[in-house]
Amino acid sequence: TTQPASFDVASTAGVDLDHFWMPFTNNRYFKDNPRLLVAAEGMYYTSSDGRRLLDSTSGLWCVNAGHGRAAIGAAVAEAVGTLDFAPTFQLGHPLPFRLASELAKIMPAGLDRVFFTNSGSESADTALKMALAYHHARGDQTRFRLIGRQRGYHGTNFGGLSVGGLGGNRRRFVSQVWGVDHLSHTQGQAVRFQRGLQPGNGALADELEDLIALHGAETIAAVIVEPMAGSAGVLVPPQGYLQRLREITRKHGILLIFDEVITGFGRLGAATGAELFGVTPDIITLAKGLTNATVPMGAVVASREVHDAIVEGSPEGIEFYHGYTYSGHPVAAAAGLATLQIYREEGLFARAGAMAAKWEEAVHSLADCPHVVDIRNLGLVAGIELAPRDGTPGARATEVFQKAFDRGLLIRATGDIIALSPPLIISGDQIDEIVGTLRTLLKDLA
Ligand code: PLP
Repeated sequence: TTQPASFDVASTAGVDLDHFWMPFTNNRYFKDNPRLLVAAEGMYYTSSDGRRLLDSTSGLWCVNAGHGRAAIGAAVAEAVGTLDFAPTFQLGHPLPFRLASELAKIMPAGLDRVFFTNSGSESADTALKMALAYHHARGDQTRFRLIGRQRGYHGTNFGGLSVGGLGGNRRRFVSQVWGVDHLSHTQGQAVRFQRGLQPGNGALADELEDLIALHGAETIAAVIVEPMAGSAGVLVPPQGYLQRLREITRKHGILLIFDEVITGFGRLGAATGAELFGVTPDIITLAKGLTNATVPMGAVVASREVHDAIVEGSPEGIEFYHGYTYSGHPVAAAAGLATLQIYREEGLFARAGAMAAKWEEAVHSLADCPHVVDIRNLGLVAGIELAPRDGTPGARATEVFQKAFDRGLLIRATGDIIALSPPLIISGDQIDEIVGTLRTLLKDLA
């Protein structure tokens, strides 16, 4: 008989670093200077050398309810023990239906049809394909073009990377989706140390009219943007910008997709960025906080209109030739249900909203620290931009990351921007601790 496998999750004994080719990582540096996390609870990680690390990044913007939530673990264990896997192609099981219904309750009115994926990248590609399928089903077959935004991030699959606007992610990959164009990003050079939304009247979004004039509305299927760009280093939109994008897309029959992989699930103090801004897109993409990151899962929430056009408008048979083996996986769906229950019972989205003023005050108090050239914030997110060191862009923020780690604080550095996005359970004292540690580090930094 086979013995059950046993892993000592927290032990590094016998761990060989050679074989795991790490994603988005300086592998050579890491393997010479490994930083291993071995346990997590509440607001803290534990590292393999016994350090306790205050998690100011919710892992990777994903552990919104804090680490080690027992109710999620219990739901996962029950699902694994009851129904390890069941297909959702031409079959089903109750959990993804239940989760879709729960999700629909917290989405903007009218967005209540849910397609499950396994990640944010898959959600982005699913949403783009859904937009193409929508127009196709309506007989609008010339609408093939997809509009993204510079410095946008929609994951790393070919669709998302094509509409994305981070140069390093795109340049080396020649084969991209055809017919893509990009809006300008929303970071105004003149606007520094702005609290919350950038000033504006929506005029920046009028660029979309220029792209429409250039390409013809009849060739454009969808516009995809993050309500607040996270991965590019926290770019907060100007007032009125998303509203204006909505007006223009509606006027021209173009679908509007909000990539809410980061902004979903309370990050901005509401269930979605759409809710916060009062702008309802046609499609919302989700992942990360959906399961509190316990099990990989993403979702694409479509309006009834988009869904019905495809499902009712297609000939008898499979309506949307798309899906993943693990779409609606029982274990992930169980984690999602338990996670949504925690968000609801603990009122975490509203809590994040209530903490946002304290957060804003605290992060902007770093404005007079050496090297700081800009600070941006929205909800429980902040971007602290440092002046790059001559000749070595990114080196300064990387050094802050390393020194913060050594002092028991986990932050994220993208380029020379420090990005902060703590779990929504953060206390006022923990906010002060994050800011205090950063102030000390920045003061001594070359
Ligand atoms: N979309 C946005 C807005 C993201 O921030 C991310 C990840 O950070 C993704 C998509 C990709 O998600 P994943 O890494 O789960 O594929």
